[in-house]
Amino acid sequence: MGCDGGTIPRRDELVRTKKKKEAKDKEAEIAAKWKYCAISSKDLTKPIVSCELGRLYNKDAVIEYLLNKEAPNSSLLSHIRNLKDVVTLKLTPKSNDEKASTESNGTNDYKFVCPIVGLEMNGKYKFMYFRTCGCVVSERAIKEVKSQVCLSCNKPFTDDDLIVLNGDDDEIDDLKNRMTIRRNKLKEEKKRKRMKNEDSINGKAKMAKSDEPVASTSSSTQSDNVVKTSSLSVLSEKASKNYSVNKDPNASEAYKSLFTSHESAKNRPKAHWVTFNPCYN
Ligand SMILES: [Zn+2]
Repeated sequence: MGCDGGTIPRRDELVRTKKKKEAKDKEAEIAAKWKYCAISSKDLTKPIVSCELGRLYNKDAVIEYLLNKEAPNSSLLSHIRNLKDVVTLKLTPKSNDEKASTESNGTNDYKFVCPIVGLEMNGKYKFMYFRTCGCVVSERAIKEVKSQVCLSCNKPFTDDDLIVLNGDDDEIDDLKNRMTIRRNKLKEEKKRKRMKNEDSINGKAKMAKSDEPVASTSSSTQSDNVVKTSSLSVLSEKASKNYSVNKDPNASEAYKSLFTSHESAKNRPKAHWVTFNPCYN
């Protein structure tokens, strides 16, 4: 260890030198999040879009990713399925005066500010956007001006429409949960609509089907109808030819005698009108 007599401690054992490096890393991390596109790592230039998890992208990089589905960090982009999953942001650029003052301070080249309270969008303050209109404002403005319409363009919004830009881990977890809930809801709504459509189509089909038997005869099914019409056509064919069993050369004498057209029928005793029983006649 050192300092225990006899040994000479090295500087890095006594002084924490790591901290500065960490601070630098943090600055770079912030800059990466707020200045550069999360897909292409190029400077953020309009049109700038954001996903439901609040990351910032150049729109052309998102389009390119959607076409190729290839990006160095594509595992972080699976929640962007099409352009509907991102919102084009309305960012307020710095005025020339602000630019001049921040540039004289140092190497500050953050381009955007909150349109309400004028805070710089440099990663030090929380910024949010409205999914309904895409306007970007600082959290401070939202807290100060309590309103249910967008502070910038007056479009109404709900709490679920507020997305924190480049939030911390907890905030991103929350955004993820909200995203899955939102998407499940949309899915269910779509399903319900589809079911409704199918029901109405089926209903129409049923209506059309129930019309058919009414149009044709009685309540018999289609197959019955076919049999009936065919037997009818046979009868009418025989009738049109003046057919009579008695004249049929193929019918036997015994068969002919069953019918009233047979000669023997004239001699047959007639039943009494009171005691008439069809079983015995
Ligand atoms: Zn707005």
